[in-house]
Amino acid sequence: MTLLRRSVIFLSIGALLGVGVWGWQANIWRKIQVLWQWQRSPDDWHTFAIQAGQRCGNAPMRIPTDGLIVFGWGDSFRPGHRHTGFDIFGPGEQEGVVPVVAAYDGYLTREPTWRSAVILRHENVPGAPAPVIWTYYAHMASADGETSFIAPEFPPGTYNRFVKAGTLLGYQGRWSGNPRQPTGLHLHFSVVESTPAGGYANETVLENTNDPAPFLGVEKQSGIWICPTQQRETTQP
Ligand SMILES: [Zn+2]
Repeated sequence: MTLLRRSVIFLSIGALLGVGVWGWQANIWRKIQVLWQWQRSPDDWHTFAIQAGQRCGNAPMRIPTDGLIVFGWGDSFRPGHRHTGFDIFGPGEQEGVVPVVAAYDGYLTREPTWRSAVILRHENVPGAPAPVIWTYYAHMASADGETSFIAPEFPPGTYNRFVKAGTLLGYQGRWSGNPRQPTGLHLHFSVVESTPAGGYANETVLENTNDPAPFLGVEKQSGIWICPTQQRETTQP
């Protein structure tokens, strides 16, 4: 291989990588701008915001909380990372007030060590890839991790407690797992597959999760996910 050809190949790879990183940064930057605008003036965004307990179109699951879906399934926050669910940012910054509800009838588990999360086991959800699927709800604790915002009916060590769709599970918080780096106020919601033994699979692995969009009936538009039927209703006179 000539030096010229080698240089051309090297530069081409460099250019491709550069375009990839630039696209990734532009996408994340756009989402951060949307998030910032949403937190400053939620009224401007109310046609895009979703509501806890709402059913979007004929979707099998209910919307699990109030807010704006800014980060989706498969999104990458840093190279090598893939996000396993939806991040739904509630209006405002106040912890412990934005409700989180069960997306579908199911059986709730809260492991003894879980201060901010619950997982629900569901049977025969239309469109699900298997007869049993789970929904996972996280960040329901204060920024310092001292206060859990999970409803008192579901203390740590709760197993297989039946809840109806729409049941209050708790409230959005800012607990990230690290008290020095709290997250913005939001709910992390994911649709998780079962293990062969019938338990829930490791939720942090993308391959163990499903895109929540078809289960909730939302569609991606301009980088965020909205309920299209809701938008039609609110924009028509
Ligand atoms: Zn998340």
